[in-house]
Amino acid sequence: MNEFWEAKVRLQWAELGESYDVVIIGGGGHGLATAYNLAVHHGITNVAVIEKDYIGGGNSGRNTAVIRSNYGKPEPVRFYQRSVELYRQLESETERWVMHDERGLWWLAHTEAGRRQERARAEINRAFGADTTFVEPEEIERGIPGINMDANGEFPITGGSFHAGGATARHDRVNWAFAEGAMRAGVTIVQGVTVEGLMMDGDRVVGVRTDRGNVAAGTVVGAVGGHATTIASMAGVRLPIRTHPLQAFVTNHYERTFDAIVASNDLGFYLSQTARGEILGGSHIDPQPSYSRRSGHDFMSEISRRVIALFPFMGRLRVLRQWTGICDMSPDYSPIMGLTPAPGFLITTGWGTWGFKAIPASGEAMAQLIATGATPELIEPFSIDRFANDRTLADRGSSGTH
Ligand SMILES: Cc1cc2nc3c(=O)[nH]c(=O)nc-3n(C[C@H](O)[C@H](O)[C@H](O)COP(=O)(O)OP(=O)(O)OC[C@H]3O[C@@H](n4cnc5c(N)ncnc54)[C@H](O)[C@@H]3O)c2cc1C
Repeated sequence: MNEFWEAKVRLQWAELGESYDVVIIGGGGHGLATAYNLAVHHGITNVAVIEKDYIGGGNSGRNTAVIRSNYGKPEPVRFYQRSVELYRQLESETERWVMHDERGLWWLAHTEAGRRQERARAEINRAFGADTTFVEPEEIERGIPGINMDANGEFPITGGSFHAGGATARHDRVNWAFAEGAMRAGVTIVQGVTVEGLMMDGDRVVGVRTDRGNVAAGTVVGAVGGHATTIASMAGVRLPIRTHPLQAFVTNHYERTFDAIVASNDLGFYLSQTARGEILGGSHIDPQPSYSRRSGHDFMSEISRRVIALFPFMGRLRVLRQWTGICDMSPDYSPIMGLTPAPGFLITTGWGTWGFKAIPASGEAMAQLIATGATPELIEPFSIDRFANDRTLADRGSSGTH
């Protein structure tokens, strides 16, 4: 237990009961935010969140915590912009300090095609509510401390975009804020309980089978991150998801002058500085699908070369920690939220490398769907039936996905 945990987070654990209106499988950010919204905004408190490990122990406590809405298509821009706005209010909403820090995000281009792409990104962002502007190399040099603009001749910067809404928040605190608020409103959250199967009545899902016994439920939500296909297959639902590891690292403390969030699609990395002064970075998913959370030297040596070319000061820092999460990657790099072909079973998945930023908006929308039975307009484009209906939302708006 650390000081914050003991002094500030008031988690009220309860025993798992035998029956709930809603059972949410997975105590990551998406499961917890859905439970919070059900209880606090819809008065549905007979809810259980079942987590096999510890809350936030999956990707929601392993990410690089970047929040933004500078995507490449109207539907994702609108959806993530809603989340950017909810993150701005999250501290007053939950009365918890989540260390939300909106400092803007620089997205770099290194080719002429990349430059054109950033110009288009800025246009579409502004058209659908996100504050992004195209920037010339001179503005980038003035705005980002310590940047080497020609990257030793290898990756010269040709332009970019600046997304004013770019922010970070402390991931653990986001999870705890939603968990605490949900518990206070009467939600049961249990840790160390694994869902091993689903209770079925014909093709309807009517509960979960856990290693502590069966639990009946009016609605079951699969919010299990990289384990999405395993849970969905228990309901006979096939998801177009593959699970890939994604690695990240932090360095030792660096003077607090790197006040930027920077991403590069072409170089496939993103960096920011944490409140402790560490430089936090990440890159692509590992190409081989796997459930492994092992980190590797290959990742560090490959990303180091690119990062140091652009930021020579990074060559003087030491890597303190490296870790890995397992990401539920959808074929079009967009999430899948909502109803499934199995009555009584909903999913929130396809969060891949980009789902931390979405936690408040998806929690809000999923709770609304459960409470009203109607899919909110904001998430309607992200339904699973888009794959059958040829309405995919191919949007590689994340530097972690290349
Ligand atoms: C290294 C890394 C960097 C990232 N960086 C960013 C970023 O900067 N910005 C961003 O927006 N996104 C980022 N992401 C993605 C983001 O972290 C995820 O998309 C998001 O956290 C997914 O949340 P979730 O609640 O769906 O899943 P998770 O947080 O993974 O939670 C799922 C939970 O389900 C539990 N579970 C699984 N199976 C069972 C079962 N059978 N029974 C009970 N419980 C079960 C797991 O233990 C887990 O706790 C990053 C991810 C990684 C790995």
